Amino acid sequence: MTGEPFGLYIHIPFCSRKCAYCDFYSVTADDTLMDIYLSALSEQLEQWSQRLNGRKACSLYLGGGTPILFGAERLCKLLKVCAKHFGLEQAEITLEANPNHTDYDTLLTLRGAGYNRISFGVQSAADEELRQLTRAHTAAQARDAILSAQRAGFENISADLMLAIPGQTQQSMQHSVRFLSQLNVTHISAYLLKIEEGTPFYERRDALKLPDEDDTAALYLGAVQVLKQAGYRQYEISNFAKEGYTCRHNLLYWDCREYLGLGPAAHSFIGSERFAYPRDLQAFLAGSKPEPMGGGGEFEEYAMLRLRLNEGLAFEQAHKRYAFDEQMLLKRAQPLRQYGLCVCDENGIRLTPNGFLVSNYCIGKILA
Ligand code: SF4
Repeated sequence: MTGEPFGLYIHIPFCSRKCAYCDFYSVTADDTLMDIYLSALSEQLEQWSQRLNGRKACSLYLGGGTPILFGAERLCKLLKVCAKHFGLEQAEITLEANPNHTDYDTLLTLRGAGYNRISFGVQSAADEELRQLTRAHTAAQARDAILSAQRAGFENISADLMLAIPGQTQQSMQHSVRFLSQLNVTHISAYLLKIEEGTPFYERRDALKLPDEDDTAALYLGAVQVLKQAGYRQYEISNFAKEGYTCRHNLLYWDCREYLGLGPAAHSFIGSERFAYPRDLQAFLAGSKPEPMGGGGEFEEYAMLRLRLNEGLAFEQAHKRYAFDEQMLLKRAQPLRQYGLCVCDENGIRLTPNGFLVSNYCIGKILA
């Protein structure tokens, strides 16, 4: 264990219904179950604080599921327990929310309690695309939620956008980016839709009018361009931010730093070990331990994560943590550079937007 501050992640595994493309772990729940879950989390937080000898966290991220469904009162209590055990002074404290579950009073209470960043699952500003995704909100509800959050005092607002939605065009993608930029959101995560096995989308994948590979690539590269024009700097394959608004919590992951994840399906990386709680709420409530997932934090993993970032693998910075042969890496990166997939020199290697599109291939070649 390094003793440095680390990131704290808490999974809130509740959704009112399931979106057809989603494979995140979530269930429906009533107040009683949510109260029980809060107690179980509180116990785990206390136990982990003892195991980590009072180490402080520099960020807290509540993901899901739909964390805002947990309700203002429970969310405020949970934040207090986290702060009691892990400090969270000057911490970035993020809560994920869906536009249709977000009202002004709740947001005001949460902001007052110390939540200082909110991430909305907007996905698209075109109602037909939201319908295709089986999302439960409209574009108008997304606008209202973002405006309410701003009125409640949130200035650090992120929104998820989905790319390669069935029927999506360059025009509709541009419309979605403009929609968010006109609302002054400070951070946008633009993810390609992935058809995950076990989801309803997977079952009817042949009937979905998904963009083909070329159209998907054009949508991604088009989004990178439009976001840039709108003042969002790309800092990771799928993440774009206004100056000063990169996500500190997620940057810990991509810098191969430590994080503790609590809740069913939550992953951790602490003291060179990876472990995860089973995707099973009842098992978590019954006190099941996280399962070991092997070691981590070696140079290959660090390099792989850094190459997801716009900054890329900076040699000087990397040498402070690892011994490695940079000449060998540069030699392997040369052919990619010739195809415009990366930029490399004596300072390091970084992928271009074209390289990000085929990042697995590029990273595999560089770290072969
Ligand atoms: S609201 Fe989010 S976590 Fe819940 S099913 Fe939909 S995409 Fe998944």
